[in-house]
Amino acid sequence: MNNALVSKLQRAFVNHNQLLKVDSVARRLWPPVCLVCGRGSDRMQDCCTGCHADLPGVAGHCWRCALVLPQTLALCGCCTARPPAFDRAHAAFAYLSPIAGLVQRFKFGKDLVAGRVLAELMAEQLTAQQACRPDLLIPVPLNWRRQFRRGFNQSELLCRDLSRHFGRLPWLDALQRTRATAAQSELPAGKRAGNVRGAFAFRRLPAGVRHVALIDDVMTTGATLGECSRVLKNAGVRRVDAWVIARA
Ligand SMILES: [Zn+2]
Ligand SMILES: [Zn+2]
Repeated sequence: MNNALVSKLQRAFVNHNQLLKVDSVARRLWPPVCLVCGRGSDRMQDCCTGCHADLPGVAGHCWRCALVLPQTLALCGCCTARPPAFDRAHAAFAYLSPIAGLVQRFKFGKDLVAGRVLAELMAEQLTAQQACRPDLLIPVPLNWRRQFRRGFNQSELLCRDLSRHFGRLPWLDALQRTRATAAQSELPAGKRAGNVRGAFAFRRLPAGVRHVALIDDVMTTGATLGECSRVLKNAGVRRVDAWVIARA
């Protein structure tokens, strides 16, 4: 069963790579435009050198939950008091302009070019942060109704793009949503953990997977990523990392 699943995913992975090859030819024919300033980009990316230099980084952050702090390699108060279920979080950026605007365009404006540039920027930053490469990349699943309305799951698209950068398979069958939840962004911080408690169930993983990275767009309290990590650890995964575009 596992072999069949792996080969199915590998085929999807190859098709996605072929699509990206077509995309890279198209970029040579039509030079990229910077999505931040709207001018022609001076690099083979939809983000020019000037805008790239001004992106809101996370120079200092909590090594466990990626909360932006005055200095890095410190543990924040929340992680000291109550460590999250994931072992290590990596956020490429702080959730500030223009990253926040690009995330909104991707998620709510259905701008897939914004999604692609965010995945590229995320891969660059996570490489610079020396994020440990997991066995598999797993997207946080979306409730089917929300996915139907949006037309896609932003975490899944990010996961597919990142899998190419990191040479790891995207694994879409690890988790499923067992019930619809209110959008985390509409709830106060104190109610977010309760909202997602029990909202995910384990489905399947290939044999021998020990270390995975969960992919999501934005981490605010970390409740969703924490709950997904708890489910994966209960299913026997030893290490779960959380990779996000931005930390709020
Ligand atoms: Zn620009
Ligand atoms: Zn922390």
